[in-house]
Amino acid sequence: MEKKFVLPGGINIGCPGFGTWRITGEAAATSVELALRAGYRHIDTAAAYENEEFVGHGIKRSGVAREDIFITTKLCNRVRTYDDAVEELEGSLGQLGTDHVDLCLIHWPNPLKFRSCWKERNAELWRALEDMQKKGMVVSIGVSNFCPRHIEALLESAEAIPAVNQIRLCPGDYDKETVDYCISRGIMLEAYSPLGSGKAAESERIAEIAAKYGGSSAQICLNWCIAHGFLPIVKAERSEHIRANLEIGDIELSGEDIAALDGMTGECGLHVNPDEKPF
Ligand code: NAP
Repeated sequence: MEKKFVLPGGINIGCPGFGTWRITGEAAATSVELALRAGYRHIDTAAAYENEEFVGHGIKRSGVAREDIFITTKLCNRVRTYDDAVEELEGSLGQLGTDHVDLCLIHWPNPLKFRSCWKERNAELWRALEDMQKKGMVVSIGVSNFCPRHIEALLESAEAIPAVNQIRLCPGDYDKETVDYCISRGIMLEAYSPLGSGKAAESERIAEIAAKYGGSSAQICLNWCIAHGFLPIVKAERSEHIRANLEIGDIELSGEDIAALDGMTGECGLHVNPDEKPF
């Protein structure tokens, strides 16, 4: 099965991406080092994860050349202005120990603190990202947790269309409206929490489908992402999980099983509507 993902400009982006949310301190360095040594070439972090310094240590310790690694970070919810955005990305680069990241995302479209001025805030952050892209501090720019209305608002003043929208996508949590909108705009979808932050392993229905293919529940979730064209960003701390998630396998899910996985409701938890998030 084709696992190649290419961003505008012909930029290859490794699949799967290695997620680092809730891995802190030395554990983040160890996991990232292990992941890169195992073969991942795409690392996903964020200023909000407060682990960029350790992610940077892991990258250095892996011995893998910087140019062979795709690094994503995100502007966090406290960022309000153009200057804040520049300061934040400069801080992330310093923590990560690199002079550029490959992708920088606006992490959340409407943090509670700025809910009355989210359009203006996103327009400023986007303008800053476009300028930092021109300066080479970031190669590609995108968004995360954006619904169509947030992207439409952004496009009112944007020069560049987001290259990526990173959203929660896993069996039973499939926001078809946002997916269809992004596909129609040529925006790549990255699937965060593709294993439902671990909940997929508890699902009997996913296990039943996995048994049919002789694979694991995690492999079914990752293959479901790829069948839809979503680039999975998967997190693991245990070394056996880190290695297992590189073995996505040659599972070719049937249309019937893809539809069954799409239609599950809350099997792996559900995403929060950004407009209802209490922070
Ligand atoms: P996830 O990748 O869906 O699931 C991770 C959990 O599944 C961990 O408990 C892990 O256990 C377990 N696991 C991993 N591989 C497994 C396997 N092969 N078999 C069984 N269990 C396995 O969770 P996530 O951290 O929520 O999402 C992934 C990444 O997406 C994050 O780390 C972050 O980079 C990104 N993300 C972005 C946003 C955003 O707002 N943009 C939000 C959430 C997440 P161990 O850790 O014990 O190995």
